[in-house]
Amino acid sequence: MTTSSPSVAETDLGRKRRARRIGRALTDAHPDAHCELDHSNALELAVATILSAQCTDKRVNEVTPKLFARYPGAADYAGADRTELEELIRPTGFFRNKTDSLIRLGQALVERYDGQVPGRLTDLVTLPGIGRKTANVILGNAFGVPGITVDTHFQRLVHRWRLTAETDPVKIEHAVGALFEKRDWTMLSHRVIFHGRRVCHARKPACGACTLTKLCPSYGTGPTEPAAAAKLLKGPRARDLAVAAGLDPDLVPAQAVAVEVP
Ligand code: SF4
Repeated sequence: MTTSSPSVAETDLGRKRRARRIGRALTDAHPDAHCELDHSNALELAVATILSAQCTDKRVNEVTPKLFARYPGAADYAGADRTELEELIRPTGFFRNKTDSLIRLGQALVERYDGQVPGRLTDLVTLPGIGRKTANVILGNAFGVPGITVDTHFQRLVHRWRLTAETDPVKIEHAVGALFEKRDWTMLSHRVIFHGRRVCHARKPACGACTLTKLCPSYGTGPTEPAAAAKLLKGPRARDLAVAAGLDPDLVPAQAVAVEVP
């Protein structure tokens, strides 16, 4: 029985096998994949994830060292001076709303969880500023509980790969989760997001410089010609990614290596 893929020719088993191959290719392509928000505990990750809404991880990482030093515990956010907190997080945008979320998060943690971030999805999603996506990030990266993070990159890529036709993030999470081993969910999420930021961009994916060409039904969405595609690779490992795709690394311009990954 086929369920969510728009491909009429591919069986569920065929899709699962292709998904696993995609997973292995991503593991090879992105050995450096990790949570790109700097943190050393669950509270810091929760705070960084709230700040990352409509903001690059890089910008968040510039703000958080000072923030984490000033507010080391949930009680510190609960009793924060609003103006001071707003100033600290201003560079991440939407700083008034985010300040609100951080103060209310601190208060809820103090009132209901003894100041600790809980390690269960059902508890996490009741906290201010924490939706299911954020909760899965926290579970996967601070508690070692496997979780799939369906962000904008993840959605775009699993659609391009036709692993699911679902559009609701929770349904995507379940549909894609069923294709992979649960223990792989967290790292899979990082690798998919890495691929979306460095290779399979929203507007112009680097199809001709991608290691997934044989597994991807959307090959050709972006330039397939090597020189044009190599220019689209991004990040410090852009040249390694070109080599992995069988291209001359010199086709990748210096600015592509230096560019900030969104
Ligand atoms: S072949 Fe193109 S559309 Fe498919 S994953 Fe690679 S970059 Fe994305």
